[in-house]
Amino acid sequence: MRMADDVPFDKSFDLEPDRVKEVAPLVRAVAANNPSPFTFKGTVSYIIGSGKVAILDPGPDDDAHVAALLDAVRGETVTHIFVTHTHRDHSPAVPKVKAATGAKVFAEGPHRLARPLHIGETRRLDASADMNFRPDVALADGETVSGDGWTLEALTTPGHTANHMAFAFAESDLIFSGDHVMGWSTTIVAPPDGAMSDYMASLHKLAKRSEPLYLPGHGNPIRNAPRYVQHLIAHRHGREASILHRLGKGAADIPTIVKAVYIGLDPRLTGAAGLSVLAHMEELVTRGAVLTDGPASIAGTYRLAGAPLAGG
Ligand SMILES: [Zn+2]
Repeated sequence: MRMADDVPFDKSFDLEPDRVKEVAPLVRAVAANNPSPFTFKGTVSYIIGSGKVAILDPGPDDDAHVAALLDAVRGETVTHIFVTHTHRDHSPAVPKVKAATGAKVFAEGPHRLARPLHIGETRRLDASADMNFRPDVALADGETVSGDGWTLEALTTPGHTANHMAFAFAESDLIFSGDHVMGWSTTIVAPPDGAMSDYMASLHKLAKRSEPLYLPGHGNPIRNAPRYVQHLIAHRHGREASILHRLGKGAADIPTIVKAVYIGLDPRLTGAAGLSVLAHMEELVTRGAVLTDGPASIAGTYRLAGAPLAGG
């Protein structure tokens, strides 16, 4: 059975917090100092172009990071702000950067759920969302925005969040992949904000593209990106197979499956792993491969379709 270890993760990181560094032609990176099990060494903000520039993902509401970003563009004009998605490590610095620069804000839209809440369901990662964010300009899939010497193409890539957007940068033949594709780890797909079926469709969407380099929201640039995306697709298929394999031994709840499937998991990520399993379950239940009582939920018990009821 294929397990997590088949993805060639890059656990190194070349940026010092709040120091600017050129990472690709016409792209500078500034990493925020917000390391955590969810953010790796910190959120990476990007400056695109030269002279008249765009800032992509201004980052968390952290004055030192905002100052570092504004310092990095001193003597230049910031004309555009782009946001990949509305988690609190990506968008809360927008108001301060916008106030300082007057730039317009472009994104898919405000934060929203991938599906309605079930009765009695609460949002477990609620604190991670920036509910205040509103773009000046809402972008549709395939829309392009041009500045001085750069063009970004908006690519809707839901899954991590419903409003996640990646941006293809034509002039430098690369994609800003946000948290949809990262080199240090797989992304968290946590219902109801995220959805596994969306995430897989978004991986397949990028797999059809040829840009060799991805610049993610956390971690180092990803080279050989189309091949890496294939690894991520295979990894999720492997995880799904592991879940089905476990259910083949009998009905189980999500904590039991997390223990069986996530070997050596950082204990701080147990909750997130449970939500990832729930994301798989939603898809498996929709497909009819797995049964549960009522809608797929974090507290539910799951069994293979056609398998006898456990416990009787
Ligand atoms: Zn992030």
